Amino acid sequence: MSKVRTNSVQSIIGMILQNIPSDAAVTKIEYEGPMIAIYTRNPRYLLENNAIISGIVKSIKKRIVVRTDESIRKGEEEARKIIMSMMPKEVGIVGTFFDTALGEVTVEVKKPWMLTQVEEEDGGGGEAEYREDAGEGGSVSEAGFSSSTSSSQTQAHIQRQRQVQALVVDLIDSTGWKVRIRKASHIPSESMKQVNYAKKLFASERYRLLRNVGESIFRPRLLEGTEATLVTLGGFSEVGRSCMLLMTRESRILLDCGINPGASEPINAFPRLDMLGFDLEEIDAVVISHAHLDHTGFLPLLFKHGYRGPVYCTEPTLPLMTLIQMDMIKVAAGEGELPLYTERDVREVIKHTITLPYKTVTDIAPDIKLVFANAGHILGSATVHLHIGNGDHNIVYTGDLKYGRSQLFDSASWNYPRVETLIIESTYGAKEDVMPSREEVESNFVGSINKVLMEGGKVLIPVPAVGRAQEILMVIDHHMKAGKMVEAPVFIEGMISEASAIHVAHPEYLTRELRQRILEVDDNPFTSEYFTIVEHSSQREEALREGPAIIMATSGMLEGGPVIEYFKGIAKDARNKILFVSYQVNGTLGRRVLDGSRQISLMGRDGKIEVVDIMAQVEKIEGFSGHSDYNQLIAYVNKLKPKLRRVIVNHGERRKVENLAGSIYRIFKVPATAPMVREALRLY
Ligand SMILES: [Zn+2]
Repeated sequence: MSKVRTNSVQSIIGMILQNIPSDAAVTKIEYEGPMIAIYTRNPRYLLENNAIISGIVKSIKKRIVVRTDESIRKGEEEARKIIMSMMPKEVGIVGTFFDTALGEVTVEVKKPWMLTQVEEEDGGGGEAEYREDAGEGGSVSEAGFSSSTSSSQTQAHIQRQRQVQALVVDLIDSTGWKVRIRKASHIPSESMKQVNYAKKLFASERYRLLRNVGESIFRPRLLEGTEATLVTLGGFSEVGRSCMLLMTRESRILLDCGINPGASEPINAFPRLDMLGFDLEEIDAVVISHAHLDHTGFLPLLFKHGYRGPVYCTEPTLPLMTLIQMDMIKVAAGEGELPLYTERDVREVIKHTITLPYKTVTDIAPDIKLVFANAGHILGSATVHLHIGNGDHNIVYTGDLKYGRSQLFDSASWNYPRVETLIIESTYGAKEDVMPSREEVESNFVGSINKVLMEGGKVLIPVPAVGRAQEILMVIDHHMKAGKMVEAPVFIEGMISEASAIHVAHPEYLTRELRQRILEVDDNPFTSEYFTIVEHSSQREEALREGPAIIMATSGMLEGGPVIEYFKGIAKDARNKILFVSYQVNGTLGRRVLDGSRQISLMGRDGKIEVVDIMAQVEKIEGFSGHSDYNQLIAYVNKLKPKLRRVIVNHGERRKVENLAGSIYRIFKVPATAPMVREALRLY
């Protein structure tokens, strides 16, 4: 096969057609966002002979997806019946979602292990992806069922994957729809439903949109060069409203788009997009590192103000950020304020979002390739690797980073083929920000809870819904099962269960151990027998009834949410404990309680002031953070050091970013800066 050097669509199509046998029955070749879609009337042929596609990917260095031609797609009802009849009854099909823009059906099953083994990353099977971990320029490995085959996987495991792949190919062949199999959550996720609803509603628009996005990505490059300028719009020398613009000769890419919910003045709450000097429509793409509000909260406003381009993030980030954005609307309404944006704007975000798996090289502009990799921070959190121009300039933006293992996630990825510019967070960038070891943290936590439970008391843990809550649930389940923590019922209320459901539906983003428990055996840790989900406020009485118990509820800083009702009940008894596991911002009720207030006033539901005396014990366990501590940040830079030319420190209080930048310069002799918001930096 000859190498194709130009980017023109004709030459790509010509090259593909030249290399595909007529048996493949290709009907059309089109852009689908950052991929090239090959439509076929004989999907079985291309899926079973995947060397054909691999060869083409290797040659054109673009992502390719095989799509079924509309003419062979059965009606949804008929296709659903075929799927039901062909899949073993025992897997328990919970639902099917037909994505008409892509011709793809997602089948949610209760017991994927009954299929022997399900590969989650790409249920389509038999396709090729352009991967980064294979070395310079990327090389091809087979995606679908064999892509993630690592040396440690057993023969039996591979064998099982092949069996499922064969079933999936049969399903595609019989229905004419691309089939993905996904583990169903123990409880249905509202946010995932909202995402699917919007996808269905805007199917034809999305189809057109993906073609347009492809056209602007694959247009020929006008200029050569690897220069880039970074404009700091938010989250520099501060925490909150993370946002920056990367400008190359050809493109304008926004990295993250958050708000600062704690800011008192609007000028400090939102990214400083006012200083761009051009319209939002001129931004080519938005890349989102993870779902937290301080990285995604402004995104719906971007659409409200006219942006219509693509948003790139990982698959779980989409429902998680939808959950967080919708919650912001609810919170505003609850406080009698006008929300910043409406559901319609959130749906615009969904409509324009293109999800990418980890470690897959994707063109997002004529001169920029993007690769996401695990950041270890929350579900779907990603480091952002941008490869500029001909590849001589590589930028890694860490987003929020956990370089250290947790119960939920592997430690952040660091093995990028090249990195010249590093943009690293600094939430815990001060010298004294050193956390105890993970073992110590967990043993402090277990000890603290045991003392209370043994005396017959209750422990109230205020938690943010996404991330920390699931980590704490895993820790509790682990230690109760191991006999180290006193067994007691764990009551969970607030958005926690919704976020947990999204975790269960994306096990490929969790540690291998959790993934196997969820997918391969009937041992979903989120449905532990210790956990009780509180669905109605009437159930709170049960949680507060006499006897030892653990109660987890949102919000994490006692600023509203169901945790307040529990707080009133728990606070009055000296046997009980209020246990904080996350940072308490100055000015919040959580901070006041932690600082030793023994009496606080709350606004009751009827508008009357309620005085609560705090007799309960109050404690904070340090070290459960989803962020790296100072030592982990330095260790991470050390891993990348041989490749670095420059480090930019962001996401931290002024004192912390300055300290981290100073340390990096002193230890590694690499120029390191900590810019403020509203600076423009030449990167190369
Ligand atoms: Zn975060």
